[in-house]
Amino acid sequence: MIRPIVLWGSQVLENPSEPVSNVTDAEVKLVKDMIETMYKAPGVGLAAPQVGVAKRIMVTDTTSGEKKDHLFTMLNPEIVVAEGEQFEDEGCLSIPGFSAPVLRPKKVVLRGIDLDGKEIVLEGTDLLARAFSHEMDHLDGRFFLDHISFIKRDMIKRRIKKLIKQGKWD
Ligand SMILES: [Zn+2]
Repeated sequence: MIRPIVLWGSQVLENPSEPVSNVTDAEVKLVKDMIETMYKAPGVGLAAPQVGVAKRIMVTDTTSGEKKDHLFTMLNPEIVVAEGEQFEDEGCLSIPGFSAPVLRPKKVVLRGIDLDGKEIVLEGTDLLARAFSHEMDHLDGRFFLDHISFIKRDMIKRRIKKLIKQGKWD
């Protein structure tokens, strides 16, 4: 089931999400829906708060489903390694129509659990490292906007607020 993507301005995106203590049918269904929603968008990553659920769950696929074996799901992810730098344009499904260059680590290693509750480790470089970092931000109530200059951030926020006023932000 495709779920509506929550946009910037919604409270669930502003707060840190809660760890998953028990993987139940609800989490399994949520992840299935998140994957469907990410592919439909299309996007390369999605965090649970982006579909209105304040749980520490992320899915990524840097090929947007074009290639096999690029889909990763992690619950309660933690960054254990962040190395190097990359500076590329970045957007967000919760901030449609806006993007900006963002400095991110070149390589990121995450540790968390999968849907069976087993501990897993995922390593990503380049776009995948960027996706991991971006989704981790969502789980902590942050946006890519928090990594850009105040002037650029302020400009984008003012344009979004204008769209909200005009009823064009949903
Ligand atoms: Zn995002």
